[in-house]
Amino acid sequence: MDPLVIVGGGHAAAQLCASLVEGGWKEAIVLVTEERYRPYHRPPLSKTLIQDADAALPELKGAEFFDKAGIDVRLGQRVTGIDRGRRELALVDSEGRASTLAYSRLVLATGARARRLSGLGEEIGGVHVLRNFDEAQALREALNAASHVTVVGGGFIGLEVAASARGLGKNVTVIEAGPRLLARSVSPQVSGHLLDHHRAMGSEVLLGVLPEIVAEAGRVAAVVVDGRRIATDLLLVGIGAEPNIELAAAAGLECANGIVVDALLATSDPAIAAIGDCTSFPAGAEGARLRLESVQNANDQARSLAARLLGEPRAYAPVPWFWSDQGGARLQIVGLWSPDLEAVIRPGARETAFSVLHYDGAGQLRAVESINSAVDHMTARKWLTAGHSPDRAKVVDSSVPIKAL
Ligand code: FAD
Repeated sequence: MDPLVIVGGGHAAAQLCASLVEGGWKEAIVLVTEERYRPYHRPPLSKTLIQDADAALPELKGAEFFDKAGIDVRLGQRVTGIDRGRRELALVDSEGRASTLAYSRLVLATGARARRLSGLGEEIGGVHVLRNFDEAQALREALNAASHVTVVGGGFIGLEVAASARGLGKNVTVIEAGPRLLARSVSPQVSGHLLDHHRAMGSEVLLGVLPEIVAEAGRVAAVVVDGRRIATDLLLVGIGAEPNIELAAAAGLECANGIVVDALLATSDPAIAAIGDCTSFPAGAEGARLRLESVQNANDQARSLAARLLGEPRAYAPVPWFWSDQGGARLQIVGLWSPDLEAVIRPGARETAFSVLHYDGAGQLRAVESINSAVDHMTARKWLTAGHSPDRAKVVDSSVPIKAL
């Protein structure tokens, strides 16, 4: 019998392997990844890894796990095509050698890639993006030598890199085109706090402006903002990620800002599932779809899919959660913030620790953002999972212990 083939070697793929092994999966598994590495933790790339010259690859599962489980891990192999009729993949290795691989069932766990600045020209030295370990190593080396780092994009990765660069003593400018930081993902309260935090760390943060990039002798030399020239020797482009859907789309699978899956993570071909950052899954109201980029989503989709493959299907219906570390500010979010929600602030023991609880018009708690308040976050995860909405009048009183709410 042909193997179950997993395309991609990230968080979703690793968790799927772990859950299948744990559940007693008996058929052969082949994991194919274009990267040279076994699956590794991506979050440290923008945090500890680029600050620490000795940081090793933070593997999710080592060789021992895959060997013991009998999983055939093929590194440095890019899947370039899916022949759905023959249930066969076309592969190419790093030296350009082509091969094929038959599958009984296929799982696409292809993740996402960093979006690039259009019109910047292909290869200007000193311009970086950050999605994988090789890019993190290149960024780490460049950071060591840099004196002024400019980050284009005030999203999670841009802000984490900005904080890490400040931690290394670099001059940092963050340029965000929108009116506030992280505008699509967090509330104005949290945006405002992080803006103050980054400025207090010594970064210059410019909002509502677009930079013009100046290259000299093939390298970035400066950015110009509102006529002001800011000398720059390292530019990090942190303007979001694009899902890797081209393989699925070329095979005729339904795609729309992600590979379209149902609640059981099946694509429009029942022999092919998809999990992780690359998926667009049904969520909430009838017809609504969501694509998330988070470790929680990758892991929980993998667990859900493993349950189905092992004969115990259960719909993926997450309470999403996420974290981001930005130089001494740890943001943790549970649920999904949206601008129509009403914010209630629960102060913490100090000014730099608090939570923002977000209620809908019916008084239901929908999301909680916590800054340096891990207990609030863990409690809120339990609340949202249970559908519990604590009394707003009591929430604002930090003398009432959170567990009593
Ligand atoms: P990925 O981890 O991206 O893995 C996809 C893999 O598939 C890659 O190895 C890719 O090379 C491979 N691939 C793609 N196409 C092919 C192909 N055709 N053939 C073979 N291989 C292929 N999330 C959080 O919750 N908290 C954080 O603090 C956080 N920090 C982050 C920091 C950084 C710098 C980055 C980049 C991401 C961060 N994330 C964070 C997001 C999180 O890492 C992702 O949501 C997660 O990695 C998604 O897992 P995935 O398996 O879907 O995709």
